[in-house]
Amino acid sequence: MPAGKRDYYEVLGLPRDASEQDIKRAYRRLARKYHPDANPDDPEAEERFKELTEAYEVLSNPEARRAYDTYGHQVPRGGAGTRPGGDPFGGFQDIFEAFFGDRFGDPFFDLGRRRRQPARGNDVEVEVEIDLHEAAFGAEREVKVQTIKNCPVCEGVGGTGTRICGACGGSGVIRSVRETLLGQVVHQQTCSACGGSGQVVTDRCEECQGSGRVSEVLERRVRIPAGIEDGMRLRVPGWGHAGEPGAAPGDLYVNVKVKEHPELMRDGEDLLHRVSVTFVQAALGAEVEVPTLEGSERVRIEPGTQPGTTLVLRGEGMPRMRGGGRGDLKVVVDVMVPTRLTGEQRELLEKFEAASGEETYNGRSGSFFDRLRGVFR
Ligand SMILES: [Zn+2]
Ligand SMILES: [Zn+2]
Repeated sequence: MPAGKRDYYEVLGLPRDASEQDIKRAYRRLARKYHPDANPDDPEAEERFKELTEAYEVLSNPEARRAYDTYGHQVPRGGAGTRPGGDPFGGFQDIFEAFFGDRFGDPFFDLGRRRRQPARGNDVEVEVEIDLHEAAFGAEREVKVQTIKNCPVCEGVGGTGTRICGACGGSGVIRSVRETLLGQVVHQQTCSACGGSGQVVTDRCEECQGSGRVSEVLERRVRIPAGIEDGMRLRVPGWGHAGEPGAAPGDLYVNVKVKEHPELMRDGEDLLHRVSVTFVQAALGAEVEVPTLEGSERVRIEPGTQPGTTLVLRGEGMPRMRGGGRGDLKVVVDVMVPTRLTGEQRELLEKFEAASGEETYNGRSGSFFDRLRGVFR
């Protein structure tokens, strides 16, 4: 199911309560404008035209329109009241001809005029939101998935009895031969009696009113693997909408959103945390509490720690989806400088400054970093 699919009413520029007449009129006007013949080599116009025709096909069919109003684009095309077994363009030519007269020899319409294979079911998408802890260690979620399935009574056929379509003899297409100035032209179109399936229903199924489809809401349990990142998509094969009889169902796509953690920022496999210490703590050394995925941990700030120093807690980041193991937790140290001093504090600092020299600031940095590396390796 394409996420960017436009609303059918929007495509036709109509309000949701548009009458059948309005729909017909809007389609007629727009189809003329965007028809490929009027816009040769304009793929955008061609796309618009297909979009229009699909919208018209659904909205002009009262049953399909009702299903669309209820379920939106989740209704599998060809299900829930559209022509049995019809793909969106199965009726394409018929619709066009109804409006603009017959067409033949047009390569645009010459595609796929054979009896169709039953169509695979559409995909379904759901979204789940998890927190960073769940993203790190995996989670399970119950999701409710509204799916269209084949009617259990008629097995998706739409009726309890079927026979070979008399109009097309079961081939799903109607051929006609016509004499023209250029000689004989063989014209094929999808059989409108059976929608191209080659079969017609004799006893309409009451369970599904002949549509062959019923809708149900299923509770599905989805496993979210450890290490997953925000925006990733999981695919569960076969949990989408049912296909036409004889075809595979669609898939379920689970879009995973990972909530932001208030204190730990993710950077791929690593986590970042900023910790603030006072300039005195930075100078004298201190122990601070740092949040981790598992809870928290006390971390030693060495005497003489500089602003921006990064302490690396190895193996305390996110699990790697490939290759196993975990990334690191990087703790960046912010050093707070006082902004408001009392007279006494000022005096103390002035005394300290007077007693300081270049060696107060330069002496240890090399050995300090060496020692830091030793601690976290
Ligand atoms: Zn049925
Ligand atoms: Zn037929």
